[in-house]
Amino acid sequence: MNATPAEQLLQTVQKMAQAGLNKGTSGNASIRLEDGFLVTPSGVPVEQLNATSMVYMDWEGRPEAGKKPSSEWRFHRDILLARPEMGAVVHTHSMFATTIACMGCNVPPFHYMIATVGGDDIRCAPYALFGTQDLSDSAVDALHDRKACLLAHHGMIAVGKTLPQALAIAVEVENLCEQYWRLLQLGEVKLLTSEQMREVHAQFTGYGQWGKSQL
Ligand SMILES: [Zn+2]
Repeated sequence: MNATPAEQLLQTVQKMAQAGLNKGTSGNASIRLEDGFLVTPSGVPVEQLNATSMVYMDWEGRPEAGKKPSSEWRFHRDILLARPEMGAVVHTHSMFATTIACMGCNVPPFHYMIATVGGDDIRCAPYALFGTQDLSDSAVDALHDRKACLLAHHGMIAVGKTLPQALAIAVEVENLCEQYWRLLQLGEVKLLTSEQMREVHAQFTGYGQWGKSQL
């Protein structure tokens, strides 16, 4: 039997913890439903979560009675509304993505896998206070035509058609940010040209490597 949306959300946050993307209660995730979305609750350690912990919210941002959604529910809602082709959002404060995000800079095309995010860089959204409309607006902007972005002085967001796809993007972004962090220790970082990145995008599209089977 297929997992329910709440079970898929639980499995995702458990996998985020196993992958080392989350510590404590910092990560959260959401999945689109027909008339709203399900989001992880506020301030519950992952080992205490179960499928019934997940919080249903309508598109107005009203949670089901008696439940408290993640304090970041606003950008989950706004991203799902802005990106109808996407069905899931994953947010982490993972070590390397957050380290680069604290520098407030975009991740340039130092490696061809940057293309998996959907462009020639991973944008970093300007800092805004967590939970605010300002943060949500800047996240939606930074995600334009992309499957992930960094949030300055905060963390990262990844999106996908499904939760496993969003999680796979988050894992890839964390890998890329660790590699970029290591390169920054060594000095000048050499980048791929826009022509080389164009070839990568064409190859990904042609083979469906990331567009279909994996992501
Ligand atoms: Zn956060």
